[in-house]
Amino acid sequence: MNPSTNVDLSPFNTLALPGRAARYQKITAPEQLSSAELVGEKRFILGGGSNLVLTGDFDGLLLHMAIPGKRLLKEDAEAWFIEAGAGENWHDFVQWTLSQGWPGLENLSLIPGTVGAAPIQNIGAYGLEVGECLQSVTAWDFDKNTFVSFGRDDCRFAYRDSLFKQQGWHLNGRIAITSVVFRLPKAWQPNIRYADLAQELAAHQIATPSARDIAAAIIAVRQRKLPDPVVTPNAGSFFHNPVVEATQAATLATDYPALPRYPQPDGRVKLAAGWLIEQAGWKGKALGPVGMYEKQALVLVNHGGATGADVKRTMAAVQAAVREKFGVDLTPEPIFL
Ligand SMILES: Cc1cc2nc3c(=O)[nH]c(=O)nc-3n(C[C@H](O)[C@H](O)[C@H](O)COP(=O)(O)OP(=O)(O)OC[C@H]3O[C@@H](n4cnc5c(N)ncnc54)[C@H](O)[C@@H]3O)c2cc1C
Repeated sequence: MNPSTNVDLSPFNTLALPGRAARYQKITAPEQLSSAELVGEKRFILGGGSNLVLTGDFDGLLLHMAIPGKRLLKEDAEAWFIEAGAGENWHDFVQWTLSQGWPGLENLSLIPGTVGAAPIQNIGAYGLEVGECLQSVTAWDFDKNTFVSFGRDDCRFAYRDSLFKQQGWHLNGRIAITSVVFRLPKAWQPNIRYADLAQELAAHQIATPSARDIAAAIIAVRQRKLPDPVVTPNAGSFFHNPVVEATQAATLATDYPALPRYPQPDGRVKLAAGWLIEQAGWKGKALGPVGMYEKQALVLVNHGGATGADVKRTMAAVQAAVREKFGVDLTPEPIFL
């Protein structure tokens, strides 16, 4: 183990923000994590940097997870069990499962980042969350100094949330996920209830889509709607969809009849953050080098040369505009380092 020092992190975050790590180590095998040299250090665990806002330099040790590997672990009458290393690229892994004839993850196509980060915020898209397909997570626990395993229920998955976030481990680097096992049921059913997806399939006259048809449709829709981070640096959806009390949603709907509302099992109502931001006048608007994307108001973009401070400024301005117009607080989705 020989960490590099003073490493430039701008290539390692999809918002392309500047920042340096005092110490940096690429992790390519789980055993590296048990090195005595890593004990007691201030740490941060980095995957693909696609859900990250770098606010400046990091004065600790940054562990860049690059553990490779993917394989069919076992299968039974009901399901395939597939294991993947934390450093595998998420989208490539999903496409590989489909090419092997194991459907189930297709709705999560084209989400950037790594396999190891997927459980952290329980990535979700087009009516599917990764927690629904996950069997177990293996990780190195720096406090217990041993490998630990979490079953699906242990992970306490919720909307963009998990045990890993609830415990603050995504910020203090206590837990480094090394591999994930997915359970993909053989009794596969297409999940095409999202309007965009259904329309894309209909446009291609596909009435009974295969999992690969669904993946292709989702890739096409996402490529139309979302900026490619390589061209326009961004971190995907920048705010959570806020969940408000039913009474507040009803009052807002009186003033704004077009307000999209999604009733939740607990009686509260989820609102569409992108709609609120657009109505507050921020779609395509910028403050200095940071703005909200012109085709999707929920995506914050770096138009070039931005710093973490610029991101925070635009974020605060958008939050203030939405609060002033609707009385609703928006919370950011990415992790701030
Ligand atoms: C264009 C675009 C579209 C996106 N679309 C979606 C979407 O549809 N749905 C969605 O849910 N997200 C979406 N995202 C967000 C992002 O892709 C996901 O959150 C992804 O899982 C982040 O993976 P990462 O490897 O880049 O994690 P990073 O950004 O590197 O890290 C995110 C967090 O996970 C922790 N972490 C990373 N790897 C590990 C590990 N091995 N062990 C322990 N902790 C770890 C980090 O410490 C950090 O707290 C999008 C992002 C972009 C840029």
